[in-house]
Amino acid sequence: MSYEQTKYWSVDNFSGSEENLQLIKEAALWITKGEVVAFPTETVYGLGANALDERAVKRIFEAKGRPSDNPLIVHIADIDQLSELVSEIPEIAQLLMKQFWPGPLTLIFKKKEAVAPSVTAGLDTVAVRMPDHPVARELLRAAGVPVAAPSANLSGKPSPTTAGHVFHDLKGRIKGIVDGGKTGVGLESTVLDCSKDVPVLYRPGGVTKEELEAVVGKVNVDPSLLSDDQTPLSPGMKYTHYSPAGTLYLVQEKERILELVAQAKVDGKRVGVLTTEEGACRYKEADVVVPCGSRTDLASVATALYESLRKFDEYGAEVIFSEVFPYEGLGIAIMNRLEKAAGGQTPL
Ligand code: AMP
Ligand code: MG
Repeated sequence: MSYEQTKYWSVDNFSGSEENLQLIKEAALWITKGEVVAFPTETVYGLGANALDERAVKRIFEAKGRPSDNPLIVHIADIDQLSELVSEIPEIAQLLMKQFWPGPLTLIFKKKEAVAPSVTAGLDTVAVRMPDHPVARELLRAAGVPVAAPSANLSGKPSPTTAGHVFHDLKGRIKGIVDGGKTGVGLESTVLDCSKDVPVLYRPGGVTKEELEAVVGKVNVDPSLLSDDQTPLSPGMKYTHYSPAGTLYLVQEKERILELVAQAKVDGKRVGVLTTEEGACRYKEADVVVPCGSRTDLASVATALYESLRKFDEYGAEVIFSEVFPYEGLGIAIMNRLEKAAGGQTPL
């Protein structure tokens, strides 16, 4: 499917005005008609289609070039919609929903038949989330159907945190984009499987393992998050994601980055460095230095991460060296995304 013109609805600085609501209704109408529309959430921009309409969901996979065995997250505006999608709601899930919904936590449940088969890539479980973004919530309410939505980027590229990123990747491939300004968290939701006796963490994100355990006790971690040579329990996690066009290396020691930059220059490469505000003036020899948030505030690093990765493409970096972050709290999600962007290799 190709569109001569992708529609654009601007509700940046959303105020809930009549004009805002009208634009969102128009976008929602296209979703009910079986089209795909990109919209902002508090994590990243999503690419939404009616989760009960198989043809509509297939369009998401086509637009993104997403492998069909990578399941999607279904977004809802209201807890009542859950019973349309899932066959049981374990007590643990109820506690988590009470604490973290709306918010950046996706829960996996046993699914009902009504969910379009492509959404779950043939699994008997479905992933569901209630986003905490006024534009997303208004759109979901107006559509009146559960909306399957992966990140609104071309498969393999960094997730979009602005409508501009979505345009860059998907213009001409989707019906329209709702522009609600920059997203907040900047990393995708935490994914937790509640269909097991002890919940299993598949993807680290905005809600940390410690925060989950404070509510439900023990949480197991998908072994692939702890070791390189395990196959992930969650199908989509095996793919390289979030990658800039240049080759990305994660480097433990900042001094080593200086050596690697010097060597790459000798080799005639256009070199980029991903650092933070604190390190911005350290790497003078590099061609492109991108400061990504501040080390004193990992949330600021998460917010800026994907935009920073995209900048290396804008400036044509062929090789990129990135500083690393502590494996604790939000740092775990940041390092998970950086490791995937680096093709799964552990830091040098
Ligand atoms: P994205 O849509 O790119 O944010 O990715 C959503 C991720 O959630 C997928 O890549 C899967 O790994 C995971 N996921 C979605 N549904 C399921 C499910 N039923 N079981 C396990 N993992 C899932
Ligand atoms: Mg994605």
